[in-house]
Amino acid sequence: MKKRGLIERLNQGPVICAEGFLFEIEKRGYMSSGEFVPMVSLENPEALLNLHRDFQHAGSDIVQAFTYNGHREKMRVIGKEELLEPLNRAALQIAKDVAKSPLGKEPNLMAGNISNSNIWKEGDNESKIEVHRMFSEMVEWAVDEGADILIGETFYYAEEAYTALDIIQKAGLPSVITIAPMGVNSMMDGVSVLDTMKELEQRGADVVGMNCFRGPETMMPYLREARKILKCHMAALPIPYRTSEEHPTFFNLPDDDSCTCPAPHGRTFPTALEPLLCNRYEIGQFAKDAYKMGINYLGVCCLGNPMLVREVAHAVGLTVPASKYREKMENHFMYGKDIPKHMKDYGNKA
Ligand SMILES: [Zn+2]
Repeated sequence: MKKRGLIERLNQGPVICAEGFLFEIEKRGYMSSGEFVPMVSLENPEALLNLHRDFQHAGSDIVQAFTYNGHREKMRVIGKEELLEPLNRAALQIAKDVAKSPLGKEPNLMAGNISNSNIWKEGDNESKIEVHRMFSEMVEWAVDEGADILIGETFYYAEEAYTALDIIQKAGLPSVITIAPMGVNSMMDGVSVLDTMKELEQRGADVVGMNCFRGPETMMPYLREARKILKCHMAALPIPYRTSEEHPTFFNLPDDDSCTCPAPHGRTFPTALEPLLCNRYEIGQFAKDAYKMGINYLGVCCLGNPMLVREVAHAVGLTVPASKYREKMENHFMYGKDIPKHMKDYGNKA
C-alpha cells in the first residue's frame, strides 16, 4: 500500500501519535529519572524497539524517533557529547525500522524530533545561536536517516518554537510544532499561548498545537480558543494527569493530603506522580472532545502508555491491532454477565 503523507492523512481523519517515551522507558527500567537522557537507543536498543512496537500495536500512526533530550547540551551535562550523533542516528534508525514494518497495511510515518533545549534564554543571543546549532544538526541527521516528518515539541519559549519551525521548514519536510506553556499560563518570553499558536500558523507550520506538561483539564481551554482561530491542522497531546486551575502542570502537582510517603525530593514530580493519573476514560473523553472540535492529530505525552494510546484511537472511532484486547468485563469472575449468583453477590463486598 502506498504511504500517505501526514497532511493527506490529517485531511482524511484522525492521526494518532504516541509521545512521552521518557517516562515509559524509565518505568521499564532503562533510564534514570531526573537525568532523563535517552541513552537507550545505544545501550538497550531492543528495549526502544519494543516500546515503539507496543505503541504501534496500540494504534500510533507515527513512530517518533526517541531523541527527546538527545541534544548537545544534555549530552554535555552527562559528559558524553561524543555519543550525540550515534545516539541520534541509532534512535532514528530504530524508529525507521518499526515504521516500515507496520502491523496494518500502510507503513507508519517516521518522525524526527527536536524539543525544548533548556538553554534558551531571553536576551542572551549566544544561547539562541547555540540552540539554533543544536536544532540544525539534529534535523540534518533526521533528514539523512529518512524522516517523513519533523516534530518540534514541548517549547515553553515562543521564540524557541519559531526557531525550531524555521529550521524544520528549511529541511522541506512537513512540520508539527507543539508548545508546552508552564504554570504561568503564558510562554516564558511573555507571548500568550494563543498568540504563539497564531504566529506558528502565520509562519507556515503544517500542524500547530500543544503537548506535555498539562493534563486534559488545563490544556483543553487553550485548544478550544485556538481551534476557533486557526485554520491549519491542530495537535493535542496532553499528559494523563489531573492537573487543575490551581496546579496547571505536573511539575507542582500535590498528592492527596492523606499521602504518607512523600518522595525524597519533596514533590510528586517526576517519581511519585502515579496517584494523580487520569484513567483511560478521562483520556478517551479528552480525545473525543478534541476530535469533535476539529483537532485530528491526537496522542498522549509523558506517562502515556499503550493502553491510553489505544483509548485515544477508540475515542475517535478507530480499530487498531490492540483493540482485540480491550476490556471484556462481561467475562469477569465477579462483575461479568453469566456468572453464578453467589459469585455475583461477592461483587459488592470484595
Ligand atoms: Zn511529555
